[in-house]
Amino acid sequence: MAELEKALADIAAEMAARTDRGNVATYIPQLGKIDPQKFGIAVATNDGSVLVAGDADEAFSIQSISKVFTLTLALGEVGDALWKRVGREPSGNPFNSIVQLEHENGIPRNPFINAGAIVISDIMLAGHRPRETIGEIVRFVRFLADDDTIAIDHAVAASEQATGFRNFALANYMKSFGNLRHPPELSLGVYFHQCAIAMSCRQLAMAGRFLANDGRHPETGHSVVSAERARRIASLMLTCGHYDGSGEFAFKVGIPGKSGVGGGILGIVPGVGSMAVWSPGLNANGNSQLGSIALEMLAKAMNWSIFAPR
Ligand code: GLU
Repeated sequence: MAELEKALADIAAEMAARTDRGNVATYIPQLGKIDPQKFGIAVATNDGSVLVAGDADEAFSIQSISKVFTLTLALGEVGDALWKRVGREPSGNPFNSIVQLEHENGIPRNPFINAGAIVISDIMLAGHRPRETIGEIVRFVRFLADDDTIAIDHAVAASEQATGFRNFALANYMKSFGNLRHPPELSLGVYFHQCAIAMSCRQLAMAGRFLANDGRHPETGHSVVSAERARRIASLMLTCGHYDGSGEFAFKVGIPGKSGVGGGILGIVPGVGSMAVWSPGLNANGNSQLGSIALEMLAKAMNWSIFAPR
């Protein structure tokens, strides 16, 4: 534990001194207001410890990290039938790309690009009103993180709703192929709100623990998902969790991860624990610039690459 504590403190100190912080996302105007100097990191280990450094208790917009939680919920609702409407291949394209949808009959390449997550929102809407589905997602992350204070940042949701023309285009395009069952604005309403959930690194690391623990809630031992499903979700994080930067993240960090344009990354080390990092500046692929570097340093210091023998 002392080794991990030192690694986190060293990383936070190094990150505070760096000036190559990338650029904060401005296409969602509300996110453009965030201080790029922020940096937080947290690790929740399977044996019940939580270690943090930097701004680890400050809530930020989890954005696409929410796609891990909605995929988990939607799989629980419809099981493997989900894969008829969403693929499982890396896209090699930006997070909001529309090009592959034309050649693939409106079936998004994977659940972690925007198009895939919008289909997942549509699946979750079945039989519900948008506010019920949004409530279900928030309750699920509160349960996973064991923290009832987690909430949606409504200013961020409104900001994205007002400017998300690309996502409206994706949704309308998929609707034209019959891959959305509800009016696009309803599926998007769910999607914008899940992306606007605000969580701290500590809360996110706690929420990811089931994926590092064969699908079980580490404290209660109850199964959140089956071990097979937890492994499959983690494998998608490894191959698709960083958009067209997924290969680079797997190469440099070597763990399943999911990034969001709010500058957060959730990382999973199966059998060991879950971690979250936050630095709002993004690299060219829309992934946290310093967050990626911090996780690379941490995985190296702790020998956490999933390709290292245990
Ligand atoms: N809400 C963001 C969008 O749809 C999510 C993108 C991301 O975090 O990568 O543009």
